[in-house]
Amino acid sequence: MPITLKGPRPGGTSIILVGVHGDERFGVAVVKALIPALRIRSGTVVILPGNPRAIRKNVRYTETNLNRLFKANVPTHQKRSYEWRRAQILKKYLDSADVLLDIHGSFTPRSLPFLICEQSGFNLAGQLPFPMVVSGFDDNQPGGTDCYMNRIGKIGICAECGYLGDPEAKNIAKKTILAFLSARGHIRARKTSRRKQQRKQIEYMYLTKTSRFKLAKAFKDFEPIKKAQLIGKDGDEEIRSKKAGFVLFARDGLPANDEAYLFGV
Ligand SMILES: [Zn+2]
Repeated sequence: MPITLKGPRPGGTSIILVGVHGDERFGVAVVKALIPALRIRSGTVVILPGNPRAIRKNVRYTETNLNRLFKANVPTHQKRSYEWRRAQILKKYLDSADVLLDIHGSFTPRSLPFLICEQSGFNLAGQLPFPMVVSGFDDNQPGGTDCYMNRIGKIGICAECGYLGDPEAKNIAKKTILAFLSARGHIRARKTSRRKQQRKQIEYMYLTKTSRFKLAKAFKDFEPIKKAQLIGKDGDEEIRSKKAGFVLFARDGLPANDEAYLFGV
């Protein structure tokens, strides 16, 4: 990899990224197994490993989170990292494409699969096998590959394929890639079962104010939160939700000014 597959007929260019987080290697295995059997009929499909050095080491990243570097205003110290250099290479590929599918998975047991995209991606997302689509990441947790595509007027879709300890995650990734290639017209059209997708919206990201942020409990992804419910304590301050909604990616034991959780409705 990278692998560029061209069909005999003209068509758009799509990019599939795997291993943007190097420890989410299941995506690499899935595309390696799929590629030999792919018959591209039209357009161009580029398949790329996101963070090769982190994939080799089986770590999320080596110096800084690659999936926060695709934004304006990246701090100078992060620009000295391997991941920053890698992001500049990936941007060249993204610039040349119309649509991105970025494959991710979770280390939290029983994580629900979901898609991340903005309104421009809803039509395509509707053809992918996911029960839920979440928007609002670009504004509240910017810097992802999908955010970059949206920012340059293209379509970025990130597929969170569920818990990586469950073999089903690989299966979801495989089905998603095939449904994506079909919806984009790159491979022979497959029957897609359009199902009703739930749509959710991220409203804000809570950044820790101190290095003593502690969650009130271990929250599951999308766990419902009541109005005024205690989410955690940041130093001595109680952090309560101002309205009903859900939390996503909640974690503690962080330094100050780090991503503690996303809140959405
Ligand atoms: Zn990831």
